[in-house]
Amino acid sequence: SYFEDLEGEVKPPILANIAAAKYSRPTLIQRSVIPVMLAGRDVLACAPTGSGKTAAFCIPVIAKLLSNAAQRRSKRIKKAVADGKTSGKTCYPMALVVAPTRELTTQIASEFVKLAGRKRLRVTEGHKLRLSGPQPVAAVDVVVSTPRRGAVFLSHPNVAISHLLWFVLDEVDRLFDEGFISQIDDIFTLLKQHERAEAEASGEHNASLQLSRAFFSATVPSHVEELSGAVLVNEVRVVV
Ligand code: AMP
Repeated sequence: SYFEDLEGEVKPPILANIAAAKYSRPTLIQRSVIPVMLAGRDVLACAPTGSGKTAAFCIPVIAKLLSNAAQRRSKRIKKAVADGKTSGKTCYPMALVVAPTRELTTQIASEFVKLAGRKRLRVTEGHKLRLSGPQPVAAVDVVVSTPRRGAVFLSHPNVAISHLLWFVLDEVDRLFDEGFISQIDDIFTLLKQHERAEAEASGEHNASLQLSRAFFSATVPSHVEELSGAVLVNEVRVVV
């Protein structure tokens, strides 16, 4: 299979960026995960570093964020923020990616920029966001963060979680090893609140604008299994 087979779901400029990155054929994990994530399904992927897992989630996340429905909504929000009609919310992220170290968040953020291009999506790392002080949080589309900053970001009064389309946890087994579980729990609590609010609102229901989740882990010990069971919805499991 080739990346070009994704044409229709992944826009030509993104396919051009993939080609420019010299990714000619998808790796095994990419062949398995990308179609599932493009379909909006939750995923638990067992994939080691070096398998091409970063691009495996970046490509479908970018595709959803650049979909016509997401871009239309994003334009509306930009205007509403400019007109002061969002009751203090200034930042409506569309994707949050959490990873255990800054080294990884930097790597993931640069993969997003490489594959999406500099102009299409505003990508930043959690530690680069100003989350205290008088200035409202700057608008951004993709935040890649360590768990602590991710939790602070999502709970900030200027940040809306209502427009999240993808939540990705990378290296879930390491997140456990490094003692991040209470911050991860905080993030899930915030996401659950949002899901309940959305279920209650249920008015404008658009399947293509619902939150999906993806977990990537080199190993799946029982605690990772439990977390997946608690958070993922009807997920597809991929093992490479
Ligand atoms: P990762 O597993 O995400 O850390 O990726 C490992 C390395 O593989 C990175 O340097 C990527 O740039 C590279 N890579 C990812 N996908 C492909 C692909 N389809 N073809 C060739 N190299 C790739």
